[in-house]
Amino acid sequence: MKSIQTVNGELHIEELGVTLIHEHLRTRDERVVKQFPHLYDHEEEVALAVAQVKAAKERGVRTIFDPSVLGLDRDVRFMQRVANDTGMNIVAATGIFTFHYLPTRFAFNDIDFMVTQFVRDIEIGVQNTPIRAGFLKCATDYQGVTPDVEKVIRAVARAHHKTGVPIMTHSHPASGTGLQQLAIFKEEGVPLNKVLIGHCGDSDNLEYIEKVLESGAFIGMDRYGLTHTISTEQRNDTVLALVKKGYANRIFLSQDYCCTTDAHKPEASKRAAYPDWSMTFLMDKVLPTLKEHGVTDEQINMMMVENVKAWLS
Ligand SMILES: [Zn+2]
Repeated sequence: MKSIQTVNGELHIEELGVTLIHEHLRTRDERVVKQFPHLYDHEEEVALAVAQVKAAKERGVRTIFDPSVLGLDRDVRFMQRVANDTGMNIVAATGIFTFHYLPTRFAFNDIDFMVTQFVRDIEIGVQNTPIRAGFLKCATDYQGVTPDVEKVIRAVARAHHKTGVPIMTHSHPASGTGLQQLAIFKEEGVPLNKVLIGHCGDSDNLEYIEKVLESGAFIGMDRYGLTHTISTEQRNDTVLALVKKGYANRIFLSQDYCCTTDAHKPEASKRAAYPDWSMTFLMDKVLPTLKEHGVTDEQINMMMVENVKAWLS
């Protein structure tokens, strides 16, 4: 692919620029939003997202991939509004975010039904808009590849074959689920250099991460600022070791930041546990530290600009 669909239409891949590959303008559970709307403040959510995205833009970021899909209350109109208010390129996804079960509509239909919906999002538009999805997303957490999760992974693979758009996953390295995802993609005949195994940076187990890399897939060192699994220092050490081994051309750096999220609302105590977590931590603190430890500008450019083009094209 020479171009990608953003929420504001087609963009040539040469125009992507510095890219944050995994950030969320907002994540919520759509069931709670629908049934208890009083818990949410739309304008506050827009303001929080605009503030973070503007700050990222001031630091040179030009494009953000937002892998919110079904299960995280994807809302492409919300994304488009933030894109318009900030001038950021924002790329939406299609897929399903579930760790175990599917909604009834998908549970009682076959894989082809799911594939049809994903392809529609990519080729026609999401949520009855002309805004098209630019990549595919699936998730496998510590529960492993449950039957419903497997159905999503295979549907994502088949939608990739029909459309050519790349695949991003949520994985749980402590359970080795990235390798399980790759095994299914391989079975489905997906070229593994079109796959980005997300959240590999939640582990400093180089042996595991290198197994993922040996498949030909990209990896996401994409949760900078979150310290519930490993510290920022451990994340840096892992990236430094991998860059030293020559893997800069397979690594994405991002923060998995959620401008608002059900998991930790701005006022909730849990968020205070991650004082560094933001959409700018990477640019402000992480990249300078990596450079101090010998990562070159060229390698940073590879991870922040070039790899996204390789994953897409
Ligand atoms: Zn995420």
